[in-house]
Amino acid sequence: MRRSEVAVEPHKGRVKRPNGATLWVTPSCNSDIGRFINLLVSMHDMELMLKLKLFEPRKGKKMLIEETIRQFKDCVNDWIQALHQLGEKPTRTAVHRFAYKKLRQKYSQLHTDVLQEAMDLAIETYRAWLNNPNKGKEIPRFDKDCIYFEGRCVKFDRHFISLPLAGKRVWLPMHVPARFKQYLQHKHGRVVLKKVKDEYYVYVSVNIPEPEPYEPRGWFGVDIGIRHIIVVSDAEGEVNWFLNSAIGWKKNMECRISGLQRLKDKGVKKGVWRVLKRFSGKVKNRQSYINHCIAKQLVLMAKMWRYGIAIENPKGLRKGRVGKRNRKLLHKWAYRDLINKIVYKAKLHGVPVVFVNPKGTSRTCSKCGAKGIVKGRIFVCKKCGLKLDRDLNASRNIALRASPRFEKRGFHMEMVI
Ligand SMILES: [Zn+2]
Repeated sequence: MRRSEVAVEPHKGRVKRPNGATLWVTPSCNSDIGRFINLLVSMHDMELMLKLKLFEPRKGKKMLIEETIRQFKDCVNDWIQALHQLGEKPTRTAVHRFAYKKLRQKYSQLHTDVLQEAMDLAIETYRAWLNNPNKGKEIPRFDKDCIYFEGRCVKFDRHFISLPLAGKRVWLPMHVPARFKQYLQHKHGRVVLKKVKDEYYVYVSVNIPEPEPYEPRGWFGVDIGIRHIIVVSDAEGEVNWFLNSAIGWKKNMECRISGLQRLKDKGVKKGVWRVLKRFSGKVKNRQSYINHCIAKQLVLMAKMWRYGIAIENPKGLRKGRVGKRNRKLLHKWAYRDLINKIVYKAKLHGVPVVFVNPKGTSRTCSKCGAKGIVKGRIFVCKKCGLKLDRDLNASRNIALRASPRFEKRGFHMEMVI
């Protein structure tokens, strides 16, 4: 019997078996209490940051944006000045009382909420500066090309955004990718308008309700590989999935980078550092993009199969589990970023994720549980004769550890009733 199918009388509180043992119930069971816990779990919102590009505004609107950016910058700096005049660690209310009237008059064109946002930003900047032990004598200056808007003073209508700019509210057209449309209907928080190289972007933070994770039919074990980026497998071995496409590319890139580095050290060529800088940015971007693709594929596949995802606990990563030679290889991929992306996408799609203690997963036989040996790429079990790719064996072990029969207390929020 699966644990979620255990019959529980909902209204009696603590359920005791005749022999006095307490029953374990998962939140997704059919009891009232289970439903109540579900409600608590699903009340969490997750915050998404959407980046939307504005279409090139007309000349008049562009000038208005520029003017507002300039005023906002000055306004933040004036708030910082006021904070500094007040002295040691001023409170919000004190600053407000001290300078609001004066600044309200000076920046009469700015929206009230924008003025407030400027104050918050100034307080943030000033506090960070106060806490910095290496601060100079000069008070900080705010010098970014952006405007902060409080969520409630910004409106959206299809692909238009309405912003209260200096003295006037305007509708600006923007590009909304199809996948973002659903998110814009939710409640949004702060909106930031940013100017990057003559183009305008708006950053919108939206709170969307986290979908309730489903009860998984099984688990995909994800092994952080050494020669593959990740290896995915389930406990039965129906899915065996190697993802290694980008390792070769990265090696190639690193060869070129180290070649350039040598040139730079020798001082042979001028301007090598500029090429190097461009290269490092490229590697980072591409890596992040590949991680995004892998995470997306994995999460969508898990959702289709209605499986959960089991990953080894990232805390132990890069420590202990692998030898010196292989540890160097592990450093060559942004695994932390990959795991973060998997977890975040899984949350978005309601796919359950569990972290598993990876200790011994590479040396245990996934078929019989005995200790085996690793010869190069192959894992060999002497007891049952299993011969398998070492990473595949490890990923199956991880999937096994997440399965309910191993009684791992990870994602299953077990409650004693
Ligand atoms: Zn075995």
